[in-house]
Amino acid sequence: MREVFLPESLSEVHDLLERVPDAALFAGGTDLLVAMDEGLRNPPALVGLERVAELAAIEERGDALFLGAAVTHARLLASPPVVRELPILCRALAVLGSPQVRHMGTLGGNVVTASPGADSLPPLYVLHAEVELATRSSRRRLPIADFVLGPGKTALAPGEVLVGLHVPKPGGFSVSHHEKVGRRRALACAVASLAALLDLEADGTVRRARLAFGSVGPTVVAVPAVEEALAGRRLDRDLLASLAPDVERAVSPIDDVRASAAYRRVVAGLLLERLALAAPSA
Ligand SMILES: Cc1cc2nc3c(=O)[nH]c(=O)nc-3n(C[C@H](O)[C@H](O)[C@H](O)COP(=O)(O)OP(=O)(O)OC[C@H]3O[C@@H](n4cnc5c(N)ncnc54)[C@H](O)[C@@H]3O)c2cc1C
Repeated sequence: MREVFLPESLSEVHDLLERVPDAALFAGGTDLLVAMDEGLRNPPALVGLERVAELAAIEERGDALFLGAAVTHARLLASPPVVRELPILCRALAVLGSPQVRHMGTLGGNVVTASPGADSLPPLYVLHAEVELATRSSRRRLPIADFVLGPGKTALAPGEVLVGLHVPKPGGFSVSHHEKVGRRRALACAVASLAALLDLEADGTVRRARLAFGSVGPTVVAVPAVEEALAGRRLDRDLLASLAPDVERAVSPIDDVRASAAYRRVVAGLLLERLALAAPSA
């Protein structure tokens, strides 16, 4: 028989992890329980996080938002500060799974699962989000890009809990763009996705661009060379089309049940071209 614990504080979570070191944390269970059902994981005990208040918080803290790890996607999508300040994250969460999955699944679970297709990750990369991790005696913060190491692999140390994400408000970016291509419009994992923040001058000249592609590499793929090539130039479809081959070369997708690597590469380039549709002056 597997025990299930529902602690009410972070210190109780750490007590339980000390008592049963191989226990699995779970929030919504939409990744973990599927993996258990498929025989991929078989933890001796489960520790639920839904009653831990700190992990359920959404707070505005100056120029950033703190998003607790156990906040569900549905709560984020209904949160006025999140909707106002982080539209790019909301666009991505709005197309994650189905209403049922968004009501159960959490931001922390999506980040720790570290799937190449995790919908929250490209927006969190371009927003320069940081994770906050806690052991019983210490806390540390890491940029999201240093936390997610590969498919299913993170920098989470044994006994550490993801408390939440610190997400700077993206001041100055007039375009917040997210596009996900799946095999159908809803309840589909991404074949490829793009999150982009653009800071544009009135005539459409790019001051700054941040781009992150999902589902086309072991983890999120950033393309700094393309970001730099966009800076100082007027954004239009021709410019984006001329840079699409650079994106195709930068990504390293795999063949899987959803799409071939070759198709994903082409889609990644087209997602860059389609950024023109998001920019008012292009
Ligand atoms: C039908 C279906 C459709 C889906 N569609 C999508 C989709 O379109 N896009 C997408 O990105 N995902 C999708 N998912 C995957 C999943 O719903 C998301 O990744 C979700 O955000 C996971 O959150 P959770 O709270 O359910 O995670 P859980 O299953 O509770 O946990 C996932 C992992 O994270 C660990 N964990 C959770 N919280 C913490 C914490 N605070 N600290 C440390 N470790 C923690 C757990 O130990 C576990 O290893 C889908 C899943 C299903 C079943």
